[in-house]
Amino acid sequence: MTRRQKWTLLRIVLAALLCAGAWVSPLEGGWRLAAFAASYLLAGWDVLYGAMRNLAHGQLFDERFLMSVATLGALWLGEFAEAAGVMIFYQVGEWFQGVAVSRSRRSIAALMDIRPDYAVVVRQGQEERVSPEEVAVGEEILVRPGEKIPLDGEILHGSTSVNTAALTGESLPVDLGEGDRVVSGSVNLTGVIRVRTLSAYAQSTVARILELVESASEKKARVESFITRFARVYTPFVVSCAIVLALFGPLVLGQPWAVWVERALIFLMVSCPCALVVSVPLSFFGGIGGASRRGILIKGASDLEALCGVRVMVFDKTGTLTQGVFSVNAIHPSRLSQAELMDIAAAAESRSSHPVAESIVAAHGGHIDPSRIGEVSEAAGLGVTAVIDGQTYAVGNGKLMDRVGAPWHDCHLAGTVVHIARGAEYLGHIVINDRLKDGAAGAMARLKALGVERIVMLTGDDERVAGAVAQSLGLDEYRARLLPGDKVSAVEEWIGKGGKVAFVGDGINDAPVLSRADVGIAMGAAGSDAAIESADIVLMDDNLAKLPLAVSLCRRTLRIVRQNIVFALGVKAVILALSAAGLTHMWIAIFGDVGVMILAILNAMRAMLPLREA
Ligand code: ADP
Ligand code: MG
Repeated sequence: MTRRQKWTLLRIVLAALLCAGAWVSPLEGGWRLAAFAASYLLAGWDVLYGAMRNLAHGQLFDERFLMSVATLGALWLGEFAEAAGVMIFYQVGEWFQGVAVSRSRRSIAALMDIRPDYAVVVRQGQEERVSPEEVAVGEEILVRPGEKIPLDGEILHGSTSVNTAALTGESLPVDLGEGDRVVSGSVNLTGVIRVRTLSAYAQSTVARILELVESASEKKARVESFITRFARVYTPFVVSCAIVLALFGPLVLGQPWAVWVERALIFLMVSCPCALVVSVPLSFFGGIGGASRRGILIKGASDLEALCGVRVMVFDKTGTLTQGVFSVNAIHPSRLSQAELMDIAAAAESRSSHPVAESIVAAHGGHIDPSRIGEVSEAAGLGVTAVIDGQTYAVGNGKLMDRVGAPWHDCHLAGTVVHIARGAEYLGHIVINDRLKDGAAGAMARLKALGVERIVMLTGDDERVAGAVAQSLGLDEYRARLLPGDKVSAVEEWIGKGGKVAFVGDGINDAPVLSRADVGIAMGAAGSDAAIESADIVLMDDNLAKLPLAVSLCRRTLRIVRQNIVFALGVKAVILALSAAGLTHMWIAIFGDVGVMILAILNAMRAMLPLREA
């Protein structure tokens, strides 16, 4: 319990004691009144104050306004205990909500227990224990078994297995050795490793994730805006009903004013949408928290909602549906030797982080002298052009060859063909092969079973490769030879056809599409940077099975939200009808209200529980 919650509890207890004391006390008149008034103000001053402040800002209708009018009316009718009771129970609900929110926040914090406390940096041969913020890029750090890896980096020395569960939800340890990349926030399990840092703390994976999770809980505002929108219609409606009710009895039926004004006030009081106001954000919050425990980071409630309604799911190919790790299948020089062609390709690709580039560099394996390489520029969806040993080379697909005017020809072998040209002179090509991700077909089938109507693949790769992938995964449609801009227009085309469109990519050169789609989903973000910013939903690892899981988790959360709305409004409607007919007492109304709220909160907490996977 936070200090504030303790204070609230104290306030509730004191106010309840005062109220009960005044009720049973033999005192008469002024003293009794004073005790009720003290109880009322103690429990309700912040509600009254909030309503007044809103009034000053011209925002008339919110729950605090309803409660203030209703309780002041009750006081005016001489129902002192009832007025104090409403305020006291309101605070009980608030307190309950506070505890629920901090519980789910704590569980997120626990699972997000990835913030490294220190880094052991090696400076001039001496080990120094410093805070991770103080380590610069390129410094050497030492990580012992059992320690959290404080910064993203590359293993210089040693081998170990690491646990990335806190980042990805995947509990299987990963074995890493020299030259492999380690991700901050994972836990070093077995060996001592020396790591050269590749980012400063602020840019590290762990810092980005923490930032994202923190802002996800702030984005609650979007849900609140839903409730505010709701209240904007609901509250005036209820207030008008109450006025009509107060006028109806005396003017139409000729009955006494006091009876009908009281009915109207009870009506007003019961109509406070507390259970909704409390439980809706809490459900979303729980859903987001539960998902992040599984390595699915959802940036806000509106993103969660959007994923539930996705009808078209569009995938990038390389690195998303396929592993993005190519093996070199064949080297076909038109000029030069195979080794020379490979050498040029690797040198040109050595600065690119595209999967094609990384695979070619890895296949080359040898040392590439950086001083040979001059200016390099990468054209997304095409390839790279680079100055090597003073000459300009282009390495990429057929479209890039067309651009530089090199007379290229296709290859009879299946696979992605990487062409190489010097100026406009065609030098030959390298054929590389990618493999489908494990479980890709199963994930597609499950998405279909969850009601995704169309699964589409967009790729910059050529027709043959795209067709083969689409067929073996059973996709509904594919488009090949697209530039990143074409991918944006393809996604826009589907957006125009109605229904929500999700785009799933690896964040490498598809950031514009990620942000254009209704729901941008980035996979395998534990390494990549751009993805976390442009996506709405981030899957920490690159396991495609997380996708149907994310959809199911979001659906359950939304189902809980709907249950709560229907339940709360249903009970409200019954009590409202009873109170309009004069069949209920204010106390029943109050208890009914708080009861609904507590049930709704408990239901909301369900959104945090793990989902049984089918
Ligand atoms: P995808 O749409 O499958 O993710 P990209 O849009 O990233 O693919 O790239 C499309 C095509 O452009 C690749 O299949 C490859 O032919 C070519 N390409 C892109 N980047 C490079 C690169 N760095 N080196 C060589 N070819 C590249
Ligand atoms: Mg790509």
